[in-house]
Amino acid sequence: MNSKQRTQRPLPELDELQRLIKRGGSQLDVSVLTEVIDGTQRYPLHAIRLGNPDPQAPVLLLCGGIHGVERIGTQLLLAQLDALLARLHWDQGLQQDLEHIRLVFCPLLNPAGMARGSRANAKGIDLMRNAPHNAEQPGAWPLSGHRIGAWLPWYRGALDEPMQPESAALCTLVNREIGCARFCLSLDCHSGFGMRDRLWFPYAGSTRPLEQLSEIQTLMELYEGANPHHRYLLEPQCHQYRTHGDLWDHLYHQHLLRHAARKGPIPVFLPLTLELGSWLWVRKNLRQITSFTGLFNPLVPHRQRRILRHHNSLFEFLIRAVRSWQQWLPEGSARDIQQQRALQRWYKDEHP
Ligand SMILES: [Zn+2]
Repeated sequence: MNSKQRTQRPLPELDELQRLIKRGGSQLDVSVLTEVIDGTQRYPLHAIRLGNPDPQAPVLLLCGGIHGVERIGTQLLLAQLDALLARLHWDQGLQQDLEHIRLVFCPLLNPAGMARGSRANAKGIDLMRNAPHNAEQPGAWPLSGHRIGAWLPWYRGALDEPMQPESAALCTLVNREIGCARFCLSLDCHSGFGMRDRLWFPYAGSTRPLEQLSEIQTLMELYEGANPHHRYLLEPQCHQYRTHGDLWDHLYHQHLLRHAARKGPIPVFLPLTLELGSWLWVRKNLRQITSFTGLFNPLVPHRQRRILRHHNSLFEFLIRAVRSWQQWLPEGSARDIQQQRALQRWYKDEHP
């Protein structure tokens, strides 16, 4: 990408990512999943791996920026990567963790959209509605995703069109990283919904419980126990809205199918979404209403810094949970008990 093209459409998050890649040097395993083309501009879609490369090693996947306008999610992951790189050379605990687990960062999934300041990619397609499957119980139209045209938000793309390069690249990455892994957690960072920060788990397209619900329940209890004053709302995504074509629903289905075909036990894969509640930032700074970017991102520097440090304990917890997964996964009757607790907590209306 030459400098003339970059000055046309600045993308500081990509600059920062490339700075971190350079700084990490041989400690990072960097790949370009695809090149996203927008007119004359080309953007690399990077994935960064660090830690144990064994395909069976437990994995923590960290993704962001799939909605281009939600820059804060990408910035949050870049800040985490920056902090990890600063600790790598001296923090023995972290070094030991990384001997056992693999961290995979994919922090800028929709670079063309972010450069344009748009939610969708350069073709106007909402990548988080772009998976081929339909919701079992779709929510309100058109938010749930539609195939009318790119002029209307939440466009899924045409019916017979393959997945967009960005969505396909994410699916290839996730399937590759977790295909043989014995345990996997993922966190996809978004912003723009509600007054509170939320941690969502699937499904986005159905009100039925996740197959690995008892593991979700246990993970959430561990988090609540370790962080008694946390402020996240923990819930299935379907409690807020339901959508067609959700990539994490799709990847979870693929995971179940892959292991059903192998006829062995299905390794635990828990795809989480962090949805930062930006409406609070808007309420505290009404100027943001006049800015489309401001509906999804903090505009005041002190607020941005606060958000970037506010989630440190969550990331630290996720690393610990992946490192120690064999210590806490429920088995046998404990699994049944956790299932019942989760059904009571989240699915009383669907399963009274
Ligand atoms: Zn989003």
